[in-house]
Amino acid sequence: MGAASSISTNRSTSSCSRPTRRPSPCRRPPGGGASPGEGPIEAAEPTRAGAGPTGDGLPVGASRLRHLVGYARKVYALGELLGAIRDGRNAPKTSARLVATTLLFAGLLRIRSFNALEPRLAEPPFLRLVGGPPDRLRLCSADVLGRALRRMEPAGVRRLLIQVVAQAERNKVFREGWCGALRYVALDGWEPIQSYRRHCRSCLVRRVKVKTRDGVVLEVDQYYHRYVVAMLLDPRFDLVLDFEPLLPSDLRERGPGVNEGHEGELTAAKRLLRRVKHTYGWLDVAVGDALYANGPFLSVVAALRMGAVVVAKKPGEEPLREALALWGGAPPAQIVRDDPAREEIALWDCPGLTTLASYPGPIRVVRAQVKGLAAPESRPHTWSMLVTGQATRLPAPRVLTVARARWHLENTGFHQFTTRWRFTHVFVHDGHAIQMLFWLFFAAFNLLTLFLYRQLRSYGRDRGTDPTRTISRLVDEMLDDLARLTVSPWDTS
Ligand SMILES: [Zn+2]
Repeated sequence: MGAASSISTNRSTSSCSRPTRRPSPCRRPPGGGASPGEGPIEAAEPTRAGAGPTGDGLPVGASRLRHLVGYARKVYALGELLGAIRDGRNAPKTSARLVATTLLFAGLLRIRSFNALEPRLAEPPFLRLVGGPPDRLRLCSADVLGRALRRMEPAGVRRLLIQVVAQAERNKVFREGWCGALRYVALDGWEPIQSYRRHCRSCLVRRVKVKTRDGVVLEVDQYYHRYVVAMLLDPRFDLVLDFEPLLPSDLRERGPGVNEGHEGELTAAKRLLRRVKHTYGWLDVAVGDALYANGPFLSVVAALRMGAVVVAKKPGEEPLREALALWGGAPPAQIVRDDPAREEIALWDCPGLTTLASYPGPIRVVRAQVKGLAAPESRPHTWSMLVTGQATRLPAPRVLTVARARWHLENTGFHQFTTRWRFTHVFVHDGHAIQMLFWLFFAAFNLLTLFLYRQLRSYGRDRGTDPTRTISRLVDEMLDDLARLTVSPWDTS
């Protein structure tokens, strides 16, 4: 996503027969790194109104874990947010707040199962970390955590995640002007849980073929949980904004146009996008893969007064078909050479197409052929994108940047959730409990990401640029810190 170092434009041979809008430069170039006003390390960040100064005053490296808790408390009011979480148990000995705090840190420290968590619930450093009562030798059993999750009220636990993102936005954490001064939300399907044996009322089910040890192929039921996740795209990091399960057939609301089967990803995505826009009014553009390249989805986006950048893959479908016909064999309208990325990008651009019958407005189509300069003989990679609403003001190279940022998300966010975090382990097989746990795990992911990029700005540069590996290193350091935790980071006395 580096800035283009040189641009050659071949406007006289523009291959689109309709007039193309002249690209205007982005206000700031895309790419990582700190903005000019940002300090190199441990920089201050505005706190919530009325809260104390940022940071816990510890020297760098003294205890990342204490530093993280101090940061989360002072900047994001983590204590108050956890304290507002409720569950439906009657007079529990271990409060909903303690349960939520325990599971938030279990997620953050990537404790792999309730079995692995159980002994920690009696370890003094872990009890200090979660702010357990000093007179308790053991917090509770893992069974109690599971029961509390099943009865946890969604509003409080969802609010934890939303308030952290909203506060970060108020603190101007998200860089304005990354691309056309717009804010982007990427939607994508994600399936962290599959099982052949255990299932719950919220499970989706499908028939799959499996091979037994004797080589016999059988068709069996596979149960799974699938979600649509909304993530904020930023040049430096990705944050989770919200997520929504795909509902099985017997939990769906019945009505006109609703079939008997399980819900599809698009149905859940449209519901999610409406909620996301309602929650975060400052979002401008929805970004999606080829599943979202259709009129009904683009219409929902337009009704929310948002723009869209959606990948299109089927050359036989409108409006890509019309754009390809108009371009014919003509040369690209623009060629961009990106020396840092060692790429040459040829771009075709066609605005204002109205050939998609299920969408009433104009759609711009951008096609990009990306050629790697390190291997010029290899075949270029082609991207086609549908662009609507406010996103149509982006120059063509930036449309590609946004589409590729979503692709980057698959390789960082989802890959990281699956390989490094514990989302794929079923702690409690109950649709509601899984959702409550995911809210807490996503909140942990966001807090850790914000801590890394806002408080430890030189950390990533010191340890390479792979965000997944950088976050894993930080978690390893925090696990070491935990063993040495002699005072609770919640203790203000
Ligand atoms: Zn299930």
